[in-house]
Amino acid sequence: MDIFSIDNQYIASTYKRFPVAIDHGKGSEVYDIDGKRYIDMGSGIGVTAFGIADDVWQKAVIEQIGKVQHMSNLYYTEPCAKLAESLCKKSGMKKVFFGNSGAEANEGAIKAARKYAAEKKGADYYTIITLENSFHGRTLTTLAATGQDHFHGLFQPLTPGFMHVPANDLDAMKKAVAENKIAGIMMEVIQGEGGVKALDADFVKGVAELCKEQDIVLVIDEVQSGNGRSGRMYAYQNYDILPDVVSTAKGLAGGLPIGAVMLGEKVKDIFSYGDHGSTFGGNPVACAAANSIVDRIDEALLAEVREKSAYIFETFDGAQGIEAVSGMGLMVGLKTVKPAGDVLAECMKNGVLCLTAKDKLRLLPALNIPMPVLKEAVEIIKAACR
Ligand SMILES: *Cc1c(COP(=O)(O)O)cnc(C)c1O
Repeated sequence: MDIFSIDNQYIASTYKRFPVAIDHGKGSEVYDIDGKRYIDMGSGIGVTAFGIADDVWQKAVIEQIGKVQHMSNLYYTEPCAKLAESLCKKSGMKKVFFGNSGAEANEGAIKAARKYAAEKKGADYYTIITLENSFHGRTLTTLAATGQDHFHGLFQPLTPGFMHVPANDLDAMKKAVAENKIAGIMMEVIQGEGGVKALDADFVKGVAELCKEQDIVLVIDEVQSGNGRSGRMYAYQNYDILPDVVSTAKGLAGGLPIGAVMLGEKVKDIFSYGDHGSTFGGNPVACAAANSIVDRIDEALLAEVREKSAYIFETFDGAQGIEAVSGMGLMVGLKTVKPAGDVLAECMKNGVLCLTAKDKLRLLPALNIPMPVLKEAVEIIKAACR
């Protein structure tokens, strides 16, 4: 079967794929259909948190599939309840709504912010402020939230009630809040698609204080940065703030579709029966997979993430062909002298799969990538940058 030509003929042309067909893998190593080995420094865009076909994850998924693969949300299931409890304990949030993707999690977060403001301040307080250069998803509402015009294309009109302010500009944020009827502020503390940029600590703290003062719902989008990737369970924990709502997805279930809207004290009871829902949300297999991931994101694992991060930052900082290193934890952006796309192609040729974000090379390896494998990949990337 010619995968390439059949895919090109029958799959909608939304993805510009690389001419590589992946067949299988183990941990941080994957193999294409010709048996060529690659080190996976992208982990499915930060999804396979413990690598490909991880043993513990696999066992959890297979066990749950043998028990019950889906029940409607009309009934209780153990994996779903257990996961919600773990997430609340690790995040400081109080209640969780489960969906199936990052965009869906953000939709839930936006609904929570709007309902809170409508009840508290009035129905005209519906506007959500997000940051320029942000990315929040591909649905018409999360596209409206996304502060990058090039994603908006010919899909107008998008959902009304969104405005964007420049990142790290607290005065602009205060002005936007003073001049508009604001329900919520939503931001990634480490912008991913926007170029792997961690926000300034002063700005994040300032926004959190502003939200408290003005009773505005602070939503942190941890779809990419969450679940251990930043070196803490959630990236906002690096900033010493407590948001009102946290959305997450990508790495949470280690490779199965899931999204979570976590509601803090202020909005924990904002949703009543019928306010929100999702047929697949809280699926027991996805939740069992997520439990197998979340249970292993402990202090020892996080310390390991920070160590590997320090190694990557030290190796690339000031290296030949590297202009800047950005990000946090195992969410790393490399501003390369050569075009990032060229570096990516060279790495692929030499057996390392990387990502790009804007003009940067982006690295999102599995949290448990073994040090020797990481070193091997880093050497190949370094050589490709020169
Ligand atoms: C990937 C991403 C999303 C969208 O997630 P999907 O699962 O693709 O819907 C939203 N926000 C951020 C920060 C992301 O990185």
